[in-house]
Amino acid sequence: MGIYDECGVVGIYGAQNAAALSYFALTSLQHRGQESAGIAVSDGTKIVLHKDMGLVSDVFEIGHFEKLNGSIAVGHVRYATAGGRTIENAQPFMNSFKNGSIALAHNGQLVNHTKLHELLEDNGSTFSSTSDSEVILKLIVRKYIENGGKLGSPNDSNSNEAEKQKRFIEAVKEAVQEIKGSFALTIMTEELLIGVRDPNGIRPLCLGVLGAEPLGEGVAEKAAGVCSEGKTFPSYIITSESCAIDAVNGQFLRDVEPGEIVVINKKGLQSIKYAQEKKRTCIFEYVYFARPDSVIDGISVQEARYKMGEVLAQESPVDADIVIGVPDSGLGAAQGYARASGVPYGMGIIKNKYIGRTFIAPTQAERENMVFVKLNAIRSDLEGKRVIVIDDSIVRGTTSRRLVQILRRAGAKEVHFRVSSPPVKFPCYLGIDTPSKNELISSTHELEAIRQEIGADSLAFISLDGMLKALGEDAFCKGCFCGLYPV
Ligand code: AMP
Repeated sequence: MGIYDECGVVGIYGAQNAAALSYFALTSLQHRGQESAGIAVSDGTKIVLHKDMGLVSDVFEIGHFEKLNGSIAVGHVRYATAGGRTIENAQPFMNSFKNGSIALAHNGQLVNHTKLHELLEDNGSTFSSTSDSEVILKLIVRKYIENGGKLGSPNDSNSNEAEKQKRFIEAVKEAVQEIKGSFALTIMTEELLIGVRDPNGIRPLCLGVLGAEPLGEGVAEKAAGVCSEGKTFPSYIITSESCAIDAVNGQFLRDVEPGEIVVINKKGLQSIKYAQEKKRTCIFEYVYFARPDSVIDGISVQEARYKMGEVLAQESPVDADIVIGVPDSGLGAAQGYARASGVPYGMGIIKNKYIGRTFIAPTQAERENMVFVKLNAIRSDLEGKRVIVIDDSIVRGTTSRRLVQILRRAGAKEVHFRVSSPPVKFPCYLGIDTPSKNELISSTHELEAIRQEIGADSLAFISLDGMLKALGEDAFCKGCFCGLYPV
């Protein structure tokens, strides 16, 4: 049984302080995972790793950076489901050989990891965790050994080094063609950094450059090509979301494409296309998971949320005095709804910034009470008013039920619940932590029954067509809404 997580990854190449930059990038990806954090860094001769349970700021202290020297790094933040919350499953994963090491960070979820795990074990691989990400690492190692490789020795000549890198890249390519599911990977050896996005691009991954000079025309093209040996070129960052590139004052170049491997070494950047599938980015990244200041595959997350709210207002209008959003991921849609409907926007709800997500409370009773701690209504905004409240999703129905209570407690005269995603009816097998089907309220209840259950005066979800209209295209994994998955 694998451990399923939502995560954030980063890779840095060519910056003096790669570990510190990874730390900043991971801090801005903290929303993608709060359970563990880690950074592996290479000084060109060896890889040093530090990882632990907790938030990025808890895991790293100033003293750690004295030992994390080097210009290549990969980093990871992890949000595990209950049961998988152990240090063994914290990332990056690292594998050391006689002559070198590799480190790997993974966001996503494999669907064929059990079989691969067994095959690898039968062939002598050993595992220290239950994570599907370690399966990817061990598969790369296996491929590399099969190809006759030894990981890079600092004492080898350059030509040997080039040959070894070639074999290693080949091993990565062969391994990622065997794994199935969603994956955005950052992988490093002592000398190179690799980014990989799964054939459908289900989980996001993007590429940026670091350095103070503003990028001029054509720099993206230059950076995407192979730079000749010895030529100066910018440092690179590969990461889950563009907000992490901003956090290190880098500049966004482009998304890593579905089915693309990006290799960065002394020679510059090389792109290898290893699969030709249709793009199927996870639609829930735009609904809930990603930060609003990120742009994924050319679509601004915040802009998408505004538009979802606008479409929702057109599809499900209602007379009211105020529109409010559930912080944080419902706020964009609430503003869009207000704009399109003409109903004034207000704050209405305040969120406690210092507690984690309600999802990680282990029992239903604890989850329900966590909502009271996490969210509260602002009485002066709501008293005596007809309130439209927008949330990005209803999953179990826990938040919405408590929220309606909270709004009524603060004097709301009517509560009209609007949801900026369609009903979540199916579990996710590809990296979003949704519960099993029978816990999904939209899977077990019809609309009117859900309305009664949450105690709202009216309830409406955006339609799937409306959501696609808001996003401007239909190139997404919509498995949670329709039960059809790309893999
Ligand atoms: P629920 O209370 O189970 O209906 O969950 C819905 C609420 O949880 C909404 O406020 C969402 O913003 C949030 N949410 C949706 N998906 C997730 C997820 N995968 N992890 C944590 N929170 C989520």
